[in-house]
Amino acid sequence: MRISRAAETAFRPSRELDPLRERPLYLRLLRAVLAITSVIYAAILPGDQLRTSLPWLIALSAGYLAASLGIEAMSRWLTGGFYRWLFWATLGLDGPFLGAATYLSGGSTGPVRYLVLVYITVITLLGTARTGLACAVWQSIVQVAFFVAQWQGALQGFGDSAATHREWVRLAAFLAALWVLTCATAILASINQGEVRRRRDELDRLVDLGRDLENAEDAQTVGNLLLGALGDAFGYDRMALFEMRQEMPRLLTMYGLVTADDDPELAEASVVRLAARSRKTIHLKRIDAVADEWLAAAMPGAHDVIVVPLLADGVAGVLAAALGPWAGGRSEQRVIAATERFAGHGAVALRSAELLSRVRQLAITDGLTQLANRRAFDRALDREMSRAARADGRLSVLLLDIDNFKALNDAYGHITGDMVLRQISRALQRTVRSYDTIARYGGEEFAAVLPGCSAGLALNLADRLRLSVQDAATDVKVTASVGVATFPFDGGDAATLLRSADRALYASKRAGRNRVRSAEQARAELSDQ
Ligand code: GH3
Ligand code: MG
Ligand code: MG
Repeated sequence: MRISRAAETAFRPSRELDPLRERPLYLRLLRAVLAITSVIYAAILPGDQLRTSLPWLIALSAGYLAASLGIEAMSRWLTGGFYRWLFWATLGLDGPFLGAATYLSGGSTGPVRYLVLVYITVITLLGTARTGLACAVWQSIVQVAFFVAQWQGALQGFGDSAATHREWVRLAAFLAALWVLTCATAILASINQGEVRRRRDELDRLVDLGRDLENAEDAQTVGNLLLGALGDAFGYDRMALFEMRQEMPRLLTMYGLVTADDDPELAEASVVRLAARSRKTIHLKRIDAVADEWLAAAMPGAHDVIVVPLLADGVAGVLAAALGPWAGGRSEQRVIAATERFAGHGAVALRSAELLSRVRQLAITDGLTQLANRRAFDRALDREMSRAARADGRLSVLLLDIDNFKALNDAYGHITGDMVLRQISRALQRTVRSYDTIARYGGEEFAAVLPGCSAGLALNLADRLRLSVQDAATDVKVTASVGVATFPFDGGDAATLLRSADRALYASKRAGRNRVRSAEQARAELSDQ
């Protein structure tokens, strides 16, 4: 079942809620245990210690249970502030009950005192340290109040003489024990709660990272998202992320580093390459400046550096991060393990991005010659045409066809023909400018988009291409004919322009091959005939 984003957020419990209020069942159980145990203690107590009759104590316990359950049931019908008030009222009731039960079953020497300690511990662990401390204050007040009442003789109706000095000392010792226990429990519980909160926080960030990575299509974006998430979650202030390319790490992205060289060549002994080979995280106290010159210079004075391989179907990359001086009170081992989890997410995304870019590259590349294919050519032509139209600029296209290639195939076979096509492709690629697109248009025909080229310039380049075919170091010598057309004179759209270039190409063929014709020359020759 898929839950919508909005629903997910709604189901996540708010961090502001008092955890005690989310656990009414445990509170009910605790109160039942307090009431029943008080009765059991009273039942097994020697008769002279019990300051009342057993039925009285049973009635008190039952009354307490009924009252707290009743208030709680009532509060379930209410919402908002009043509910909260009633919740505190039930906690308030626990004090007098435990105070009375303690007094009635022996006071400062009776066994119910231990229940007070159990009660405070459970409340602190179930709720927050603050709730625990508040309840400890309330229990202390109630215990002292009973003692004072006893001291003043107000409780004589309940079978006891005035409190003795000894009892006062015992009460003080008991309260001291109560406070030591409360503080220790509160401190330990808040340490644990802090840890739980941090883990939940990490998990939330990991989920967020996963969601963000779903939309990341290129390695650079994946790298930046990963470093951003790691910085937020663990406070890393210096990080470098390498992508593995044919076993060699290549710097993909970095954060907080001081370096002028963003394409470092890492030595064989570099810890980054070591982590990639061993596929294990390496934890360094200090960077070795000899083996890792670049890293040592980029993270000066860094200690506690972790180098984590990004594992997904092999090693997709390597992360090097310097642990900050403060890891939020977490143990290093915990931070490293959590970082590895983040790195695992990054690794899968990096692999996907890499596959996507490889597929995209394949879709626009000709398999035999590794030049751009027809689709890439059409796309480049459309792009450059609209750019030229917007900027009122020039643009030429050129079609080049190998002369008598059929005869070559017939004489030497297709394998040699293919080899010659590859050799010619390399020669053509070397001849065009870097911003020209040269493509295999089909069979033994090639096409080029020449942005910014007027007819004169294009004829020039076409002739150089023709010569590069003629002079290419091919298994069998070949020549080529070329046709050139220029926007906007020879066509205002891609199809017309290409048709003009094709006519020019055939003009070259007609004129005897191994030559260049512009569309304009082709038209002039046709009208002469
Ligand atoms: P022209 O000078 O008039 O262009 O003569 P041509 O023989 O080159 O004529 P045409 O364009 O009709 O023939 C193209 C030949 O190119 C036909 C085909 O055998 C060959 N050819 C097309 N694609 C390939 C290929 O991928 N590999 C090989 N080896 N030959 C190819
Ligand atoms: Mg042809
Ligand atoms: Mg041909």
